[in-house]
Amino acid sequence: MNNGSKISPLTRGKAIRCRAAVCRQPGEPLVIEEIEVDPPKIGEVRIKILCTSLCHSDVTVWNMRQGLFSFPIIFGHEAVGIVESIGEEVEEVKEGEMVLPVYQSNCKECKECKNWRTNKCSAFGDKIGMGMPRDGTSRFKDLNGQPLNHFLYVSSFSEYTVVDIHNLVPINPKLPIDKAALFGCGVPTGIGAAWNVADVDEGSTVAIFGLGFRVPPWLSSLKLLKKKLTGEQITALSVLGWLPSWKKLSKVVERDGERQ
Ligand SMILES: [Zn+2]
Ligand SMILES: [Zn+2]
Repeated sequence: MNNGSKISPLTRGKAIRCRAAVCRQPGEPLVIEEIEVDPPKIGEVRIKILCTSLCHSDVTVWNMRQGLFSFPIIFGHEAVGIVESIGEEVEEVKEGEMVLPVYQSNCKECKECKNWRTNKCSAFGDKIGMGMPRDGTSRFKDLNGQPLNHFLYVSSFSEYTVVDIHNLVPINPKLPIDKAALFGCGVPTGIGAAWNVADVDEGSTVAIFGLGFRVPPWLSSLKLLKKKLTGEQITALSVLGWLPSWKKLSKVVERDGERQ
């Protein structure tokens, strides 16, 4: 696929049959299946995925036997797409426009969305996105009619997906899509957190809160910044008890667990 992919108005308002990589059970290989993607409802946008990448959080949840997510599920949350059709009340994007889905909602209205220090939208909350953010239902079903769960409001391992307008950003169509896709997760969680928010100085000792989803991009971006942090200077604190086997961490503190 490339930036010049065209969309057809013939699919507007109808379910689209397409292929998706479906994960039926934790740890099982993803299987390319024919699925149906419903049209977008109020405030939603159906997009054709042009490019998607694999984030370590996809792999983490794929391996999570007792996790927060339910299967079957369609992973993928770093992508670039083109708008195929829009639901009612969507004015921010139009058909044919290049867009970037993002897993954190941004209503642009609440106190948090207006504050540059945080991106935790209080209007949409901190829910686990296995359905659409407004009504929690799925826009995917397999050919037996069984609903397939969304992942982080994006689910880009499908040729078409439906995303809320509050999880979508229009982008310049001249951007290379393979690099732009990384702005969906790796760049903002990794580089943005270490560079802009924490502003880590060389030689700092840092504590990282929230293992599991955010530590890999955090550490890789710290390396990117060429800060000379060693294992002895990093303390990781997990509030959910998801402790990766990360040998480089000198000290692991599990707030709710046995180790302190
Ligand atoms: Zn908000
Ligand atoms: Zn990610």
